[in-house]
Amino acid sequence: MENQIIAHLDMDSFYASVEIRDDPSLTGQPVVVGSDPQEGKGRGVISTCSYEARRYGLHSGMPISQAWQLCPHAVYIRPSGKYSIVSARIMEILQYYTQHLEQVSIDEAYLDFSDCGSYDQAEERAFFIKKVLQEHEGLSCSIGIAPARSYAKIASDLQKPNGLTIIRPDNLKKIISSLTVDKIPGIGKKSYALLQSRKLSTFKDLAEADIQLLQEIFGAWAVRVQDIASGNDISGLKDQGPRQSIGRETTFAEDTTDPDLISTTLDDLARSLHAELLRVHARTRTVGIRIRYTGFVTYTRSVSLSHADDNLASIMKAAHSLIEECWEGKPVRLIGIRLSGLVYHDPKQCTLDQFFS
Ligand SMILES: [Mg+2]
Repeated sequence: MENQIIAHLDMDSFYASVEIRDDPSLTGQPVVVGSDPQEGKGRGVISTCSYEARRYGLHSGMPISQAWQLCPHAVYIRPSGKYSIVSARIMEILQYYTQHLEQVSIDEAYLDFSDCGSYDQAEERAFFIKKVLQEHEGLSCSIGIAPARSYAKIASDLQKPNGLTIIRPDNLKKIISSLTVDKIPGIGKKSYALLQSRKLSTFKDLAEADIQLLQEIFGAWAVRVQDIASGNDISGLKDQGPRQSIGRETTFAEDTTDPDLISTTLDDLARSLHAELLRVHARTRTVGIRIRYTGFVTYTRSVSLSHADDNLASIMKAAHSLIEECWEGKPVRLIGIRLSGLVYHDPKQCTLDQFFS
């Protein structure tokens, strides 16, 4: 792992950017993709908003009624099925520039750049990818490059939008030590507030903290958190051969009973999985959901489709009816969707390497 170079690519305000690209009259305007605001009476949340909208304090996950209060003159657009098609195209382009790609959401992927051999070469490749995506898809992204997955993700977030941030091994510890701990992937607002109250605000604080104290706060996750904070994380890409199933899940910042938030999140997960199905040229036979309540009680349910399908609407419909069946309105911590029994259209798409790895 010594010479590992990992990149994390994240499209900038993806849904909103696709809408602006397809309707240039929206350029420079606050654009909000999400539920219908119904003049402030609407329910549901923002999926993505443009950087212009963010200047009014809007952000993903915000109730659409609140967005309307803050910015009634924004352009409000319902999310559409085209994002997964654009995503699949982007991921296909990225596959040209890396041997290993791990797609983690509709608009994010880790790329293994170790074969570049140096950070200068990796930077050049990232620069080129940004240019290609801009030229072919008219979209901008932010890329972080670092010696491990966690730092690549942290790096891509440091200069959004349209950023390219390199964290080299020799200045890794210096760069991260002053970062606040909310930059660690997975540490949300609530945990950050708790950590601040314990005087654990920066990576340096976490790195020097007593492991027992961290275990009280993070449980089994404590060692990993301290590794990341200390600059010792070496995690790379997860192996992604042709799989029998693919899944995505979202943990809510706070446990929720809001059916609209759950529904929007479910749609986003479905779009993300649909994009990956298109990218790997597969159809799914089974749609499953996973729902976790406060206290880590987890339920799964699945349904077989009448035929192997790669239609976004079918996946959404199945996922929604499964949630309707098993959610009784209790506070939800996490929801996920898994597609299984994947059927690949064209076996030539899978290399022998992937089969035997
Ligand atoms: Mg993004």
